[in-house]
Amino acid sequence: MIVVTEFLRETKRELHGTPVVPGVVYGPALLARSEIPAAAIEAFAEVVHDDAAAALAAYDAAAAVVADGFTAKALHVSGAAAEVLSASAGLARDKGLRSVVRRQLAAGEPLLRALHTAVEHFAGLFTQMGGLMAERVSDLHDIERRITAHLVGVAEPGVPTPLVPSVLLAKDLAPSDTALLDPAMVLALVTGKGGPTSHTAIIARQLGIPCVVGVAGAGEIGDGAWVLVDGAAGTVSTGADPDGARARAAADAEERAVVARWRGPARTADDVAIKLLANVADVPTAEAATGAPVEGVGLFRTELSFLNRADEPTVEEQAEIYRGVLEAFGVGRYVVARTLDAGSDKPIAFATHQGEENPALGVRGLRLSFDNPGLLDRQLDALQLAAEQSGVETWVMAPMVATVAEAAQFAGKVRDRGLRAGVMVEVPSAALLADRMLEAVDFLSIGTNDLTQYTMAADRMATNLAHLTDAWQPAVLQLVATTARAGAAADKPVGVCGEAAADPLMACVLVGLGITSLSMAPAAVRPVGVALGRVSLDDCRAAAAAALDAADPAAARAAVRDLLG
Ligand code: PEP
Ligand code: MG
Repeated sequence: MIVVTEFLRETKRELHGTPVVPGVVYGPALLARSEIPAAAIEAFAEVVHDDAAAALAAYDAAAAVVADGFTAKALHVSGAAAEVLSASAGLARDKGLRSVVRRQLAAGEPLLRALHTAVEHFAGLFTQMGGLMAERVSDLHDIERRITAHLVGVAEPGVPTPLVPSVLLAKDLAPSDTALLDPAMVLALVTGKGGPTSHTAIIARQLGIPCVVGVAGAGEIGDGAWVLVDGAAGTVSTGADPDGARARAAADAEERAVVARWRGPARTADDVAIKLLANVADVPTAEAATGAPVEGVGLFRTELSFLNRADEPTVEEQAEIYRGVLEAFGVGRYVVARTLDAGSDKPIAFATHQGEENPALGVRGLRLSFDNPGLLDRQLDALQLAAEQSGVETWVMAPMVATVAEAAQFAGKVRDRGLRAGVMVEVPSAALLADRMLEAVDFLSIGTNDLTQYTMAADRMATNLAHLTDAWQPAVLQLVATTARAGAAADKPVGVCGEAAADPLMACVLVGLGITSLSMAPAAVRPVGVALGRVSLDDCRAAAAAALDAADPAAARAAVRDLLG
């Protein structure tokens, strides 16, 4: 009875955000605490340190406790979660942060103000750098809150332990919060901030928890309010009819059980084979991906193994990592390795050009080899070595290829080493010249993330341009269609390895356009496999035609949903 009264009091509202992980759930909201009680902060303002050195010592002690806390938590988890926690520990111990705190203390600022100034200084720098670095701003703010909590003597903010399965709601979830989530108790993740590539989104995908980010108004939902979350539509509703909401959640749970049982390989309802492949970053993610029903790796982002390297790894060091990935998949499956895509949103210390005015249009990907061919040659030597030692079929492709001459030169180097050569289609010029690209290479792989960014002239990291950075834009689909047509004419494989491949509805459209393989985060493979199994090739072709004809992404999705059911 009490529960029913709660439902009635809830205002009926539907909030919208960016869909990240599909799934419909209904449960009580659990609010993550991100603020330190104001009274504790005011009380701390009365504390007077003897001098700047004493204040710095208090900072050091608090920062060390926070860093040790992250390190201790990292020991209990693995994969992306452990990396996130270790990175947070490193940031809490960061000498640069400490030296700005010291400078501000010496200038007479009180300790909490000095800490805030230092954090804002680095937050500004990270934001300016953009890309992955901009995503680290939420880590910095998390560290500030935790250090502040220790200084003022209250518990660190964070995610309360759910007593019942709940929808976790937060303004912004710090990586250290998401890293330790228990999927059995967290029904869904909803944040007011963040984009599709935020830490919250990455961890939600890894854990398979329905997730919506960037939900305006999420902060107004009360603790304990019952919310209906639709991770595919990106909606968060309060005041829903409880019976209807429960029925939707139950139907979705049943569907997810069907998905969980899917074993592959992927075939349409009329038995057309589509290769489903995994996107991996390094040896641990490759090992984790081997359990997914995939026929290999469609995108091994080699640069992600070197994010923390100051110097270029030797050929032997590289070969060991590449062999680890190849052997994880073993003979019988194949791996498409991408050469270093350093620059822009992926800063790699030993490769990225510093100080570019517009890094997304600058020297990134294959362009790094223009004035430093040795970097590419050594990586190809390492890939050759790994392929020979493992005996696993290895394809190699270059990122950010813009001209046929670049493709031909790259293919020559790859084939000289006995490997199969391809290029990514991420720049509109490569899509427009796909037929001539295919005269030079053995396969193409469309990177829809960058292809969308460059077609729509919209930064892929800009959350306020999400309607443009959407692969459902008809202009992007036209370029995919052009590329796939060229592949069919040349009888060579054309895959998609950008995020678009992970969307089950879009996967049907891509197959209808003539795409022969789809590579995605391992968690997305089963939903895509199930979706393809429910449609025929003709259905996919009709869906593709409808999507191409639509005026915008929303209309394209609606038209395809109508056709495919
Ligand atoms: C892409 O651009 O779609 C792609 C797969 O490459 P990345 O996301 O690593 O830039
Ligand atoms: Mg790319």
